[in-house]
Amino acid sequence: MPTLHLLGTGAAASDPHRTTTMLAFSSDEEAGDASTLLVDCGGDAIQRYRQAGLDIEDLDALILTHEHADHVSGFPLLMERLWLLGRRRPLPVCGISQALAQAERAFGAFDTSGWDDMPTIQWREAPYEEDALVFSGETWRVTAAPVEHAKPNVGLRIEHGPSGRTAAYSCDTEPTPSVARLGAGADVLVHEANGDFPGHSTAEGAARIAAEAGAGRLLLVHLPPGLAEAHLDDARSHFEHTEIGEELGGYSYR
Ligand SMILES: [Zn+2]
Ligand SMILES: [Zn+2]
Repeated sequence: MPTLHLLGTGAAASDPHRTTTMLAFSSDEEAGDASTLLVDCGGDAIQRYRQAGLDIEDLDALILTHEHADHVSGFPLLMERLWLLGRRRPLPVCGISQALAQAERAFGAFDTSGWDDMPTIQWREAPYEEDALVFSGETWRVTAAPVEHAKPNVGLRIEHGPSGRTAAYSCDTEPTPSVARLGAGADVLVHEANGDFPGHSTAEGAARIAAEAGAGRLLLVHLPPGLAEAHLDDARSHFEHTEIGEELGGYSYR
């Protein structure tokens, strides 16, 4: 059974109780190995990851969507924490070239020569095109497509092999048809609702995309300060199952 964990739900500027938007997906198959994916690390992702009850040994890949600070700036800290906590197996870090380059630059600013046995970083570049394969393993298959943002950026479709369940994530974007395609028939669509700004979406815009996708449920993230249930009437007129993402919320979707 897959579970989506909203490790952070805030925009770059957000409410005091929300950190930057970071997601994790976990699979706790009774008959198989536990496996998790982490998407973005613009904050202290490992603290949140552990707070969600997840085990760093189960982390099979980090996926980075784009180069903005609120999505990649926590990468050096993530590696330091993994190393200090005893993680030794390699970590695949997957994404488009601009996102990987930013993470590599940030990590390169630190002298890690004394970090004995640090887990090897496996940089895995994905093409910047529709239906790009980002990660494929025993449990997960992740594909991406370009979205509409100030910098090259991708939305994701995360397929959970054992259950056949699917989630999608818009990342930072204006409402765009490529996200509706990524989210086609998905059990859950995680969509940003940063507000009416270039390169971003309102809750209503996100709801229109969820309806177009035929998703089962819409969770709003990348939330600006003060976005409340009372503001969702317009969004729910387009897509009834619209919810504000709960900070550190866990959502099973079987
Ligand atoms: Zn951004
Ligand atoms: Zn952002």
